[in-house]
Amino acid sequence: MRGLMQERPLLISSFLTFAATYHKDREIVTRTVEGPIHRYTYADCERRARKLANGLKGLGLGFGDVVGTLAWNTYRHLEVWYGVSGQGMVCHTINPRLFPDQIAYIANHAEDKALLVDLTFVPLIEKLLPHLSGVKHFIIMTDRAHMPETKIPGALCYEELVEGASEDFEWPEFDENTASSLCYTSGTTGNPKGVLYSHRSTALHSMVANGKDALGMGSADTILPVVPMFHANAWSIPYGAPMAGAKLVMPGAAMDGASIYELLETEGVTMTAAVPTVWLMLLQYLEKDNRPLTTLKRVVIGGSAAPRSMIETFETKYGVTVCHAWGMTEMSPLGTLGALKAGMETLPLEKRLDIQCKQGRAVYLVDMKITDDDGNELPRDGVAFGHLMVRGPWIAGSYIKGDGGDILDKDGYFDTGDVATLDPEGFMQITDRAKDVIKSGGEWISSIDLENAAVGHPAVAEAAVIGVYHPKWDERPLLIVVKKPGQDLTKDEMVAYLGGKIAKWWMPDDVVFVDELPHTATGKLLKTKLREDFKDYKLPTIVAAE
Ligand code: ADP
Repeated sequence: MRGLMQERPLLISSFLTFAATYHKDREIVTRTVEGPIHRYTYADCERRARKLANGLKGLGLGFGDVVGTLAWNTYRHLEVWYGVSGQGMVCHTINPRLFPDQIAYIANHAEDKALLVDLTFVPLIEKLLPHLSGVKHFIIMTDRAHMPETKIPGALCYEELVEGASEDFEWPEFDENTASSLCYTSGTTGNPKGVLYSHRSTALHSMVANGKDALGMGSADTILPVVPMFHANAWSIPYGAPMAGAKLVMPGAAMDGASIYELLETEGVTMTAAVPTVWLMLLQYLEKDNRPLTTLKRVVIGGSAAPRSMIETFETKYGVTVCHAWGMTEMSPLGTLGALKAGMETLPLEKRLDIQCKQGRAVYLVDMKITDDDGNELPRDGVAFGHLMVRGPWIAGSYIKGDGGDILDKDGYFDTGDVATLDPEGFMQITDRAKDVIKSGGEWISSIDLENAAVGHPAVAEAAVIGVYHPKWDERPLLIVVKKPGQDLTKDEMVAYLGGKIAKWWMPDDVVFVDELPHTATGKLLKTKLREDFKDYKLPTIVAAE
């Protein structure tokens, strides 16, 4: 027997029309790319998204066309997300930090018909023009007064397009499985691959992401997504905030400690989210002049492992709860979040931190298991570690154009490429990327555990651990450290600090100091580059044996 309830499609336009109806005066505040702070409301945003939808239609773009963006987190980018996806076009967020030839590759591969670009990226587009022949329209996201002199032929001014269009537009209804948006993986190995989200997957993901143990966004919240809209949907905040009626604060192009701090304090931000590098910068800025955080209650940290010292500092020094999160572009992106379970709040600090350093528990609708190399499921005992496999309604079933072939196992699970443990309470801990794990004498050493331990030292700004060749053990760990400005640290001091914090046989065979570490376009350590840089490195343990 079928149920008798209404069949209403889950569509992205509904997030914004809901906010414009029930939270119409709630603000969206932006540090604009041009400089000044801009503020308006959800009602304004929805009206302008309708105008943009008409403007794009007027250019001859239609249902199913792919529209690319190269843009920061701003109110205009938000209008584009809704104006494009809301009318059944596909919003393709391009990561401007990718190599230029990768940007050209993905704009062509995705068949972008139009590109909307922030002022910052106009020179980049000018350079790529000869490789972007499929793009029919370039729209610069600024007003007439700020339009640059540009070689881009027929470049349109965003404000003129929006203001010149009628607001008479009804958000269409269509199948909720229609593609809504597109994001490419960063392609640290091979070409980037496109993950194509649907209205349904986005709606389900955003609803679950808004839950109390997840991002926990409500109408009384003021939310600052520092995580960029070109990085895995900004972890769904630009979708979930209007669903919740929360005030949104958009940081534009400025992500340094001073700029973020100013927005946190002047706008009364209660929740914010970003990768650990951003929080390192903020904490260093706060420490310099003993600045307090007066309104912030919760910070979500993901994208890379949040160091224990960072979680502890936020909690004990600033009274801010840290929620450690894990996910990936292929997962829309959220998979696990680290909200404590009943009874855990009262554990002693060290025990609580042990839990919070893990990447968290699966949210509703994400199935998770760990397996050995033959696909056999491993126990959920917090000790065994294996390939982390996931399944769920907002997890990729394939990449666009069939890239990468069949990506699911026989039970429909996707291999995340991460190696993890699962404990009896359901908390997952990433021990490594499968390709970064250090194989020493047949046993695995977690590079992430070593990095986290090293970053706990007060003189260490950032640390990376890679496996380098060893004739006896195959690989041994090499620790590469960036010191904080003005700090002194020797190899012996580093080794002494690690003693007792890690298993004895995990102790790096050497420590080297560098000025900076290479990062991927999404802010992760670029281990492929480090392995290349240190491929001929001779460990002192080998030299000594010779
Ligand atoms: P990319 O395109 O670089 O893969 P993603 O954001 O999709 O960018 O990266 C996903 C990967 O990032 C995960 O598979 C995992 O390896 C890593 N990651 C994400 N969050 C965490 C975390 N909290 N701790 C450790 N690693 C994480």
